[in-house]
Amino acid sequence: MPELPEVETVVRYLRPHLEGRTVNRFEAWWPKVTDPMPAEVFAQMATNRVIHAIHRRGKYILWQLDRGFIHIHLRMTGQLVVLDGADNDDRHHVTAEFDLSDEMTVLFRDMRKFGRVGYLEDIAPLEAKLGPEPLSPQFTPDLLHRLLADHRRQIKPLLLDQGFIAGLGNIYVDEALFLARVHPGTPASSLTLEQAQILHHAIQGILTESIGLDGTTIINFSFGDGGRGRFRDMLQVFRREGEPCPVCGTPLEKIRIAQRGTHLCPQCQVLDS
Ligand SMILES: [Zn+2]
Repeated sequence: MPELPEVETVVRYLRPHLEGRTVNRFEAWWPKVTDPMPAEVFAQMATNRVIHAIHRRGKYILWQLDRGFIHIHLRMTGQLVVLDGADNDDRHHVTAEFDLSDEMTVLFRDMRKFGRVGYLEDIAPLEAKLGPEPLSPQFTPDLLHRLLADHRRQIKPLLLDQGFIAGLGNIYVDEALFLARVHPGTPASSLTLEQAQILHHAIQGILTESIGLDGTTIINFSFGDGGRGRFRDMLQVFRREGEPCPVCGTPLEKIRIAQRGTHLCPQCQVLDS
């Protein structure tokens, strides 16, 4: 599933194509793509509006219109493809289509069909369900420590919770916890300020580095005309079970934490009892 760096990569790809253009027409090729809003209602709200800006919030892509916002979540396999005036009748796996001014078309291709588009007059309801942006100035080591202190849950599922911090998923949580030498099953509230500082540094470092390499392509993430994320080679533990730990040489393991496949070094990341 695309996480913060992959969604940011898509946003940066879309921005120069979309900003300033008008949404002339919307077509739902898969009727549920606008769930829970009926497709006709979405089309009414989203068309004949000018796209002022393209942003990311958590894993959401936001099109700020002259009135209201279109929000898009790629989920498992969603891809946004820009067709610039070119004839292209291929609507294979397309769930939604936006026809913009200047003969530009944006196709939402989504093999698994879990991706959704929606419209909001005001962004507040979306903001209310998302935690802080991990690359924002508001997200400080002290804030992370204070937030962790309120939760006795295991740290991995807490970091995956979009209401706790927005944008992290399985790849970057496993990598950040490895870099910080924290076992994914550690109760969040037991982290010291120093551990929270190290974890904060790891989260920001890994997200920034991955954005610089257009994210991580494991199976199917791509952007634009087949662009692939190049951060995959930089992963230290994710999907590397059985390989030697890059720090201590112990074989990396894959375990389950809160129903999620979790990669770690059993020597570097010890669960305090
Ligand atoms: Zn190790």
